[in-house]
Amino acid sequence: MSAQATDTQTSRQTAYDVIVVGAGLGGLYALYRFSQLGLSVLGLEQASGVGGVWFHNRYPGARVDVESLDYCYFFSPELYQDWNWTERYAGQPELLAYLNHVAERFDLRRKILFETALSRAQWLPEAARYTVETSTGLQLSCRFLVMATGNLSAARAPDFPGLAAFKGEWVQASHWPERPVTLAGRRIAVIGTGSTGVQAIPVLAEQASHLTVFQRSPNFSVPARNGPLDAGKCREAAADVPGRRRALLQTRAAISSNLGPALPFAAYSAAERQDRLERQWALGGQGMNRVFADQGIDQQVNDAVADFVRGKIRNIVKDPEVAERLCPYDHPIGSRRLCVDTDYYATYNRENVTLVDIGGDPIRRITETGIQTETAHYEVDLIVFAIGFHAFRGALDQVDIRNERGETPTAHWDRGPRTMLGLMTCGFKNLFILTGPGSPSVLANMVLMNEEHVNFTAGLIAHTQENGFSTVEPEPAAQAAWTKSVAEAASKLLRLGVKNYMVHVNQDDGSRVFMPYVGGLDRYTEICRAVADGGYEGFAFGRADGDAA
Ligand code: NAP
Repeated sequence: MSAQATDTQTSRQTAYDVIVVGAGLGGLYALYRFSQLGLSVLGLEQASGVGGVWFHNRYPGARVDVESLDYCYFFSPELYQDWNWTERYAGQPELLAYLNHVAERFDLRRKILFETALSRAQWLPEAARYTVETSTGLQLSCRFLVMATGNLSAARAPDFPGLAAFKGEWVQASHWPERPVTLAGRRIAVIGTGSTGVQAIPVLAEQASHLTVFQRSPNFSVPARNGPLDAGKCREAAADVPGRRRALLQTRAAISSNLGPALPFAAYSAAERQDRLERQWALGGQGMNRVFADQGIDQQVNDAVADFVRGKIRNIVKDPEVAERLCPYDHPIGSRRLCVDTDYYATYNRENVTLVDIGGDPIRRITETGIQTETAHYEVDLIVFAIGFHAFRGALDQVDIRNERGETPTAHWDRGPRTMLGLMTCGFKNLFILTGPGSPSVLANMVLMNEEHVNFTAGLIAHTQENGFSTVEPEPAAQAAWTKSVAEAASKLLRLGVKNYMVHVNQDDGSRVFMPYVGGLDRYTEICRAVADGGYEGFAFGRADGDAA
């Protein structure tokens, strides 16, 4: 085992035990955890600071949609106890401050090369190492390569015709510039009404002279009911951090539910159902997904929840035509990620806000002065693109990782991702994809999901070394069985049939694959523990080709 990495800015060290790509939620904890194992670790981060998505998504209104007391690290009770969240749902500046605090507190920054992206990695079987090239021209190597690059980090680039000739300014919400962007008094357009658009629109409307929202399809959104965090609630949460962590990991998404566990719709009387719907709406947030246990698999039950939310939209939005345009009918509620907002629907009551339905009147081109749809032209000064990501495999496909056969990790994913536990893929020794497809991933609280994946990876690396091996990869049969069980878990879901970034559609026959594992983080964690306790059944361990020879 090589020595602890020295200051990366001055070190001439080029060979590491582990290279971790990305210094967001997963990468930071990975650097800490693997260093604790005594491994030499280097982090590569293309941005100038830590934070990952919370570094880049600095658009106005950016805020987490999982409660702050759940959406933070649990690995260090002292860290949990010392940090005081100010709001129920932390805003991007506070989240970024927290992640900077974590980097400082655990002295992680010196292990990271900033403004340095992984550009190429090649597995060398004789040496059982990856050679790694960076965007800055460094030549490095590592025994284990950990991709902590996230699932929603490769932003979809706007490719609207005419954009290059636009004389105003345009920005991508997910790569909001660090420099100030003038909002006040400008005619602003937002394209996209997913979680990002829904958060940005109310804040932009407050400053714009006029805001035009271009909506292709409406999404369901539930009020966050954000506000200052009650000190008593924080103290209670911090009193037993390991206990709170255990309790969260016994839930499907590691998100606390104020309503408690849900029973199927049929178990409640009509009055109880209405009461649950109203109470969940009043509590706000992702819990609207858990009013009834069967709302994700039974269309009629789902309709009851969707009708209730559509009723709320009609109550809030004064213009009935606008309200109707905002009501989703093309997908069951919760089949796309539920948006969590502050005053989203009420924003459409403002005089300076216009909703354009580009589902019915598509954008034809961007002109020098604005946006041209089939039927109208909208003059704007600033365009904000909130059009989503190349989810799950986008960040992997942006870099050139090759095995000894010259294949890329996603080479065999044409019919959907193929992974073992959403962490490794066959043919790629010693490559770990944190929170990858086939793990609960974006369906769960991403901080605890990352902690669990890093812990499992740490166990796997330790097991490899302690048993005198140098490589680990999934066994093909185990990967096939896991991929099948991921598909089976999703087979009854209403959301499998919905156009969504979580669904892979096969080109040849149109069949669909739901990419994250929907069995719940609770079940998933149990499975991972059983695999570890069983000596990592389903993983094949080996030695370098050179050693074997
Ligand atoms: P998204 O959910 O994929 O939404 C993208 C939006 O852009 C959709 O309304 C989509 O319309 C529209 N769009 C895409 N291409 C378009 C085009 N060519 N022309 C017009 N409209 C177009 O992306 P997102 O809003 O960035 O959210 C992605 C995920 O990131 C969320 O589900 C969530 O997991 C995460 N996120 C979390 C938070 C948070 O924690 N609060 C905040 C932001 C994002 P269609 O629906 O018609 O395709």
